[in-house]
Amino acid sequence: MRRIALVFLFLCSFSFLFQFPAGVSETVAAPSNVECACGPKQVSVILFDFKDVKHNPSSTPEKYRQILRDMNASFYEQSYGQMWLTSGNVYDWSVAHTRWNQPISLRGLNVTSSNVLYDEDAMVLEEAATYQAEELGLIQPHVPHSNSYIIGVFAGDVWAWATWAYTPWSKSETVGLAIIGERWNVETFMHEFAHLNGHVYLPDQPESTMGHWDLMGPGYSGRLCAWLRLQLGWLGERDVASLNTTRAASVLILESLDDPSGIRAMKIQISEGQYGELIMSNDLWAEAENGTLAIYLYQTYRAGEEYYWDGWGYSSYTVYRPNLRLLSELSEEDTPAGRVFVSQEINLAIILLETTTDGVKIKVTNTVEGAKAEQSLITLEETRRSYESAASFPGDVLDPNWNQTMSQANEALASAWKSFRKGDFDSAMASAMKSQENARNAEELVRKAQEQAMKAQEEQAKLQTVTTWLAVAGCLVFVVVIGYVRWHRKPKPKQEKMDRYTA
Ligand SMILES: [Zn+2]
Repeated sequence: MRRIALVFLFLCSFSFLFQFPAGVSETVAAPSNVECACGPKQVSVILFDFKDVKHNPSSTPEKYRQILRDMNASFYEQSYGQMWLTSGNVYDWSVAHTRWNQPISLRGLNVTSSNVLYDEDAMVLEEAATYQAEELGLIQPHVPHSNSYIIGVFAGDVWAWATWAYTPWSKSETVGLAIIGERWNVETFMHEFAHLNGHVYLPDQPESTMGHWDLMGPGYSGRLCAWLRLQLGWLGERDVASLNTTRAASVLILESLDDPSGIRAMKIQISEGQYGELIMSNDLWAEAENGTLAIYLYQTYRAGEEYYWDGWGYSSYTVYRPNLRLLSELSEEDTPAGRVFVSQEINLAIILLETTTDGVKIKVTNTVEGAKAEQSLITLEETRRSYESAASFPGDVLDPNWNQTMSQANEALASAWKSFRKGDFDSAMASAMKSQENARNAEELVRKAQEQAMKAQEEQAKLQTVTTWLAVAGCLVFVVVIGYVRWHRKPKPKQEKMDRYTA
C-alpha cells in the first residue's frame, strides 16, 4: 500500500509533469486520449509459507480462487464489461526461498506494517515471489508482461503492497507484482491490483476523504470512483457531463452498471487557486450509487520538488499529486437539507431532484435557486404533514364535500412534487401552498360539521329540559286541582251527619 508510493510517485510525477508545463495549470482529469486498461488480464497467485510461520488451515488455495473470481466479477462490472481476469492459477503453499534456495524466515523481517516503504526487507519477499514465478514459468525472458501479474500471498501477519519488480535476469524488464499477507480480503487484492493495472498508474491517495467511494484512498471498499474509471479508460469524455457554473442544467447520472452508455458522472471545472496556492486544479465531480449522490473535489497539488541525476548533473522536477475530497452525499431518504448541496464560494448548488431505477437526477444551478429548492423542500414537508393531519379525521362521514377537498389537496401535493422533480421550484411552492389551503379547507369542513352537530345536540338537550319542566309543572297543576276539588267536596256529608244527631 505504501511502498507503491515511492515507485508511482516517480512515474506519476513525470506523467503529470508533461501535462503541466511551467506556469500553466490544467486539469488532468478526463484525459481524452487515455489508453484503456481493458481486455484480459492474467493474474497468478502463489502461496508462500515461511520457514518459521505457516499459513492458517482456513487459507486454502480455493479461498484465493474465490478471491480471483470475486475480483473478476467486480472489475468486469465496474469496467462496463471492458476488463476481466483470465483464469490465472493459484499455486499451493510452499516455503519461500532465496535465489540460492535458502528458506526465508518471517522473524526479523520488517514487513508487517505500513512501514515497508524503502525497506530492503520488503524486497526479500518480492524477490522470493519473482524467483518462484520464474521457476513456475510465469515470467520468461524477453516476453512482455504488460497484461500478466503476480500476486504473492504470504503466511502470517504480512502487510500488503504493490510494485513493479525487476525480472531476475534483467534490470530493465519489470513485472507487476503484489505482495499480500494471507489475512487480507478481496478489497485489498483489488486495491493492490489497481496500482498495477493500466497505463496510467494509480497512486495511493492517503489524504482522500472519499471513504468507500475511492479504491485508492483510506477506507476503500472494492469500488472505483468515476475519476479512477476515467484514468483507466473505462469511462470516456462522452460519459461525463461537463458543466459550467454559469448555466443551470439538469442531468440524469446513471448508476446501473448493466447499461454501457449514458452519463456516469458530472464534472465542473472550478477556477484555479480557489482552495489555496498549492492547489493547481480543481474539478467538482458528482456520481451516484444506491440512490446516493457523492459530490467531491478532485485536486492536483504541488507536493514538492524531486531531484534526479540526468548524466551531467542533478535536475529537479515538481511533484504533483492528485487528491479527492468528499464534499457531500445527497439522498432522498434524508432531511430536506440533505438533498441540496450549496457552495457559496463558487456560487453553485446541486439539487437531487429524484432517484429513478436508472440513477439519480440532479439540477446544477446557482445558490439563489439552491436556497429556493431548500425552501420548497421545507414547504413540501409541511404540506405532507398538514395533509396527514387533515386526513386523520373521518371527514367523509361528516361532510359530503370533504372527499373532494382532500383529493384536491392530494393532487396539488402530487403536482408540487412533479414540479420539484422538474426543477421548477416556484411552481412546486405554489402547488404546495394550494395543497395546504385545500387541507385547511377540509379541516374547516370537519370543524363546521362538528360545530353543527354540537349545536343540534344542544338544541336537543334544551328541548328535553323544557319538556321535563312542562311535565313537572303539569303534575303540580294536577295535584293542586285534585286537592282543591277534594277540599271543597268533603265537608258536605259531615254536615248532614251532624244535623241528624242534633235532631
Ligand atoms: Zn496502496
